Amino acid sequence: MKEQVIEVKNYISKSNLPSTDFVINPYIGCPHKCMYCYASFMKRFTNHLEAWGDFVDVKICGKPLNTRNLCGKNLVIGSVTDPYNIYEKKYEITRNILHQLVATPVSVDIITKSDLVARDMDILSKLHKVKVVLSINSFDDSFRFDVEPYAPSIKRRIQTLRTLYNSGIPTVLFMSPIFPEITDFKRIIEETKDFVCEYWFENLNLRSAYKQRVLDYVYKKYPDLMFLYQDIFVFNNNSYWLFLREKIEQYCREESLNYSVFFHYGRVSG
Ligand code: SF4
Repeated sequence: MKEQVIEVKNYISKSNLPSTDFVINPYIGCPHKCMYCYASFMKRFTNHLEAWGDFVDVKICGKPLNTRNLCGKNLVIGSVTDPYNIYEKKYEITRNILHQLVATPVSVDIITKSDLVARDMDILSKLHKVKVVLSINSFDDSFRFDVEPYAPSIKRRIQTLRTLYNSGIPTVLFMSPIFPEITDFKRIIEETKDFVCEYWFENLNLRSAYKQRVLDYVYKKYPDLMFLYQDIFVFNNNSYWLFLREKIEQYCREESLNYSVFFHYGRVSG
């Protein structure tokens, strides 16, 4: 793993994500090395020869955070990296950024797979508005180990949601990415709804670089699902997603849950 510190002029970028005004990614690269990492396209904007997942650039900014434009806006921390990856333990870049946001009336969503976020509860509780978004797409830890080999276990993530919730910090369970017929959305909701304030759902979106890797894995490990995955990701048939979306929405309405569905159609393969 190549680790280096780089100097940046500013942490804040304008966002291209829906319903998000600004993003902060305190690191470039992500040591969690998820098999399906959507952020891997970022490698082309770096000078790294190492594969995505084999390097991390730790961003250091000498200036205080310019929070002027953030007032009344929405800010996502961790759109293309995990802001609580293992290097955060040593460098505390995310912690330092949050510290500087305390006095600003901005709505902050922190997206992570790591229990390290609980370290910063002292600051999180002082923010104007915050949601901590933990990604979980299965309770099967052997599946987790296959597709997210260096990310914290599901048990640790669940415990983190519980700890944050019990401390009054709003929690979101981000079911992402949903693997057809592997992710059991109802079971995940049923076992977490006592300490999750909101659910977000995102479908598996396979693009060029990692598409075949994920498909090969599914074909080998779940041969019964081969035809379904071919139908969705090779023949671009979206009917599975449309049907699943309807099921999720109906279930969430019946259970009176707060939820958002971020399904991408037409880009399910590439
Ligand atoms: S945690 Fe997110 S950014 Fe990191 S490797 Fe996994 S998908 Fe990519």
